[in-house]
Amino acid sequence: MSKSYDHIIVGGGIMGASLALQLTAESDSKVLLIEKSFPGAGSTGKSGAILRQHYSHPVTIAMAREGLQWYSEFEDRFQRSISFHRPGMAFICKEADRDNLERNVKLQRGLGVDTQVIDGATLRELEPNGNFAPDECAAWESEAGNVNPVQAVNEILSVAISQGTDVILGQRVTSFLKANEIVSGVVLNDGQKINAGMVVICAGPWTGKFLSDAGIKLPLQALRPEQAFFEPPPGSTERRLIYGDLTHGLYWKPELAGWTRVGFLDMNEDAIVDDPDHYDEGVSGKFIQECRDRLSLRLPHYAKAASWGGVGALYTVTPDAHPVIGPVPGLSGAWVMSGFSGHGFKLAPAVSRGVASILGEAKPGSFDPNFFCPQRFQRGEAIEVRYGYGILG
Ligand SMILES: Cc1cc2nc3c(=O)[nH]c(=O)nc-3n(C[C@H](O)[C@H](O)[C@H](O)COP(=O)(O)OP(=O)(O)OC[C@H]3O[C@@H](n4cnc5c(N)ncnc54)[C@H](O)[C@@H]3O)c2cc1C
Repeated sequence: MSKSYDHIIVGGGIMGASLALQLTAESDSKVLLIEKSFPGAGSTGKSGAILRQHYSHPVTIAMAREGLQWYSEFEDRFQRSISFHRPGMAFICKEADRDNLERNVKLQRGLGVDTQVIDGATLRELEPNGNFAPDECAAWESEAGNVNPVQAVNEILSVAISQGTDVILGQRVTSFLKANEIVSGVVLNDGQKINAGMVVICAGPWTGKFLSDAGIKLPLQALRPEQAFFEPPPGSTERRLIYGDLTHGLYWKPELAGWTRVGFLDMNEDAIVDDPDHYDEGVSGKFIQECRDRLSLRLPHYAKAASWGGVGALYTVTPDAHPVIGPVPGLSGAWVMSGFSGHGFKLAPAVSRGVASILGEAKPGSFDPNFFCPQRFQRGEAIEVRYGYGILG
């Protein structure tokens, strides 16, 4: 007799693991998660996992807020560590961006976010080692935090397993099991067929190719952002805050190992990846030096910081830098959750809870199913990004 599940989740990144947890949290839904490699093998394992609420749209602000709260309560609720920390985050803008920054901060404050616009002098009080011009402005978000992404995905999946989720690791889903455009399960690379009432594709950068093999075209593209890691020089008295520096196109954040993670903000600097199974996971010495140079403009002691190398990673991007979440167009019995465009980690709790409320019995949160509809591009209804300055999502 062939196996059968209510829900099969394809992909063990933060989306798949979170959805498994939410689907099994308060229901007796039979869930199977299938991961071709290991949990966190895709974007998740290399994520900055910064949990900010600085967005320009009420929907994403509310979802980021729900995500931050959920991660902050995880350790108490489940007695498992995901290394949640709350260093706070500063977004530094150019003076020309002040009006847009003030508008977005006002919107965020109206939704309960503890954030304010500060000037260069206040930035120096926050970080006395920093070079900040007096006329610079920044949004300071004291509640912003981060987690260890690998710990988080593993612990979330462990909770899901303890709630009844079955997991297959090391097997690839090669295709849908379907007849007449109705999906009834999946086929694995060993030929095994497994039935399900619903298949949810959470395959990160692999999603576009998987769906196009099934005849479905969605505007998903894999990009390769790079990140470098530095050891702050001995004796550094730097405050270990998270920064988005729109003036220099850089973000940096403290890592638990004591290192500082540095990456570029502009996705136009990232190479397109045609085959996510074969991409360069390393970075060049030129990139490391460029990160060191740009970071030293703000924190001069990094000019002498030793490098711990870096990693090439994968984003899955859409034309409006927002995910596609909903029924797979043209197929019944299948959903897609992908295209998080470099800012999905913080959204995972709200997205998974919202999707579970539609597919299962979870209570709905801040997720709006129409907002991320996969067909919005065909309809000319791309989400309007309202920052007015360059930042993801
Ligand atoms: C460098 C970097 C920094 C980031 N920083 C942040 C940040 O600071 N804050 C934030 O909120 N977000 C951040 N993000 C974005 C965030 O990490 C991603 O949006 C999120 O991890 C996406 O998770 P996912 O589960 O959708 O995809 P993935 O993590 O890519 O997971 C997909 C999984 O599916 C598996 N899979 C694929 N195809 C198949 C198949 N056919 N069969 C079985 N398994 C399959 C893969 O092996 C993979 O494990 C960052 C991303 C990167 C790359």
